[in-house]
Amino acid sequence: MDARGWTEEETRLRKAIVSVAKLCFERKLIVGADGNFSAMTSQGTILITPAGAMKGFLEPHHIAHIDRTGRPIDDGPKASSEVGIHLVSYRERPDIRAICHAHPPHAVAMTIAEIDLQLPVIPEIIVTIGGIPTAPFGTPGTPELPETIREIIRCSDTVLMKNHGSVTVGPNIMDAFKKLDMLEHTARILWLAHVARGGLSPLPDESVRKLLESRSALGIRTRNTLENRCGM
Ligand SMILES: [Zn+2]
Repeated sequence: MDARGWTEEETRLRKAIVSVAKLCFERKLIVGADGNFSAMTSQGTILITPAGAMKGFLEPHHIAHIDRTGRPIDDGPKASSEVGIHLVSYRERPDIRAICHAHPPHAVAMTIAEIDLQLPVIPEIIVTIGGIPTAPFGTPGTPELPETIREIIRCSDTVLMKNHGSVTVGPNIMDAFKKLDMLEHTARILWLAHVARGGLSPLPDESVRKLLESRSALGIRTRNTLENRCGM
């Protein structure tokens, strides 16, 4: 414990959340006071970015500390208004320890334009996460929003919320960030291709099958939405 009462683990997680939030702000995956980021401690409590703040300019002491029902466990900062997204995701996915919620512009534009990011086009995405399913629209700041992702987060680590943003989850905050970064990069490539050609063609079934088969040789055992038919 340090002078603030933080364990070594808590200090490490607070610093990691601050770093990832800053990275997302710099990479324009969030702007203004957008987005929220959390990590779970080995005690099962949740460290989460605070309500209203600009997430690119946080310090470790700005992070809120809550239990798994959302109740504050100290008299520190108030948790994000979108805490429900995090509570639902941790409840549905006992295997995860971190969550990024961001507003990646190309990926959100794809949901508005109703272009399906499940389409198998990019080999790296087919082999890893499969595709990116989109949850139906839910009003931000209301209990409706977390309910829209409850089903889909069970079968995918990478989810889009229509007209709004993304939720990516993983065993640590860097892994959840990696999936967010991949999601936006994929959406950007597909957007450029869509604009250049006026549509997108999936890879042939045979190529998709070979790529999915290569997962076991590469030792990739993470959830894959083409294998588990998530959101289809
Ligand atoms: Zn949002």
